[in-house]
Amino acid sequence: MRILDLTRELYNAALQERRDAWRKAGKSVTVYEQMRLLGEVKAVRPEYQGVYAQVLQETLKRLDLGLTHFVATSEGEIVEAPRHFQKAEEKLAKAQRELSRKKKGSNRRKKARLKVAKLHRKIANQRKDFHHKVARKLVNRYGTIVHEDLNALGLARTRLSKGVLDAGWAQFIAILSAKAASAGRRVVAVKPHYTSQICPECGSVRRKELSERVHACECGCVLDRDVAAAKVILALGLDGALGDGQRVAAPA
Ligand SMILES: [Zn+2]
Repeated sequence: MRILDLTRELYNAALQERRDAWRKAGKSVTVYEQMRLLGEVKAVRPEYQGVYAQVLQETLKRLDLGLTHFVATSEGEIVEAPRHFQKAEEKLAKAQRELSRKKKGSNRRKKARLKVAKLHRKIANQRKDFHHKVARKLVNRYGTIVHEDLNALGLARTRLSKGVLDAGWAQFIAILSAKAASAGRRVVAVKPHYTSQICPECGSVRRKELSERVHACECGCVLDRDVAAAKVILALGLDGALGDGQRVAAPA
């Protein structure tokens, strides 16, 4: 029980740290950064010394399970969709359930419908702000931006993408493309086939399970799964030798 309590505490603290980092600095903390801090935690809180490092690491890794990053760059920067999106969407689902239970034509139904509409608007605005912020960052930093092609992405990710990722991606790419165009940057879309299976260091191909968030190749290359894919995507986008079949026109 004691170990369970400690891991629960660590999990909550790690989650809080990520939320704070995002809120205060617009920055994401990765599981790797948090793992490096485990040593410090142990120094300050000796009770953690009795817990196997592996248990603590698994606890931190669990935070990443089932989550896809909103954006991962080839340089290793990771941007998560803000957690408050999820909370707002849970609220919306609840409001929709309430609406469906109200009697047709009633005043209460009218009120419930207004509430749903308001939440919809709020979520849409939050998401748009987030997309502008991330797009601005990327456009300021990079001359050429290569991303996975939207249409093919839909097919490749349907199993794991829920809500935030799917709903927002088209809008994000549109905003990114517009900002890039006005800043004279180049945006290239590539087909996402095999991008998460190819090692960016040695080029070897190995299928990953959807739950595998880390790319660990026999050649010694260890990266976040999405960062590894981003490196492959960049190479595909810049490599004319792959032919037209690999490259698709970016949306104007
Ligand atoms: Zn490799």
